[in-house]
Amino acid sequence: MSALLEVEALSSGYGPVPVLRDVTLSVPAGTVAALLGANGAGKTTLLRTLSGLLRPTGGRVRYDGADLRGVRVERLVRRGLAHVPEGRGIVAELTVEENLRLGGLWRRDRADARRAQDEVYQLFEPLARRRRHAGHQLSGGERQMLAIGRALIARPRLLLLDEPSLGLAPRVAAQIMALLRQLCDSGGLTVLLVEQNVRSALSVADQGVVMSLGRVVMATPAAQLRDDATLRHAYLGF
Ligand code: ATP
Repeated sequence: MSALLEVEALSSGYGPVPVLRDVTLSVPAGTVAALLGANGAGKTTLLRTLSGLLRPTGGRVRYDGADLRGVRVERLVRRGLAHVPEGRGIVAELTVEENLRLGGLWRRDRADARRAQDEVYQLFEPLARRRRHAGHQLSGGERQMLAIGRALIARPRLLLLDEPSLGLAPRVAAQIMALLRQLCDSGGLTVLLVEQNVRSALSVADQGVVMSLGRVVMATPAAQLRDDATLRHAYLGF
């Protein structure tokens, strides 16, 4: 399986403050990689750097075989890279439908953007029921569905997801995880997922990537982290 995303010796940070150091990882097409690690390990910073919000200070990112250095955020989105940041970033004053339309505003193929919107309503049934409700009227789970749904309108190939289950009831979080798995298995999506809920992330991930202090300290099949208590204890503390 070829890797859709290849990160090599990447470093990045905030102004003069270095955060990521020599980060190397590879995410094969159609798989879910879970980025794990303590608060402050650099997971969010990695997603921000991959989606072009932060400029790398060194290293390389290859996406679909091409070097991403210097590529502007809009181009990345057009090439199928979508980032759903922590905190969800939906527009609270706009309705569900309007938020989804925002996700497709830049798309030239209007008909396909509408098709994608219908598909999102099929995937996330609560959104279909609440399409005329404003963002602020939604539950936490519905907001997360809307944020992911809006990203899906762009028909991404790589979805960078930051803490999708933050603040959600376990049942809703599990639904969202199952859906991500389904999108990868049937829709060819590839996901890089930051998740504090390690068990939930490992239940759907193919690969677990553990970060600490801005570095990748381990990348291994998720099944190994699920099954090997010694490894889990050493790297994840439980
Ligand atoms: P969390 O789960 O807490 O978000 P994380 O693994 O995603 O953890 P990051 O948010 O990437 O970690 O933070 C990594 C480091 O970068 C931390 O030391 C943090 O203090 C620092 N950092 C994060 N955002 C900024 C910022 N805007 N300016 C300066 N430093 C920052």
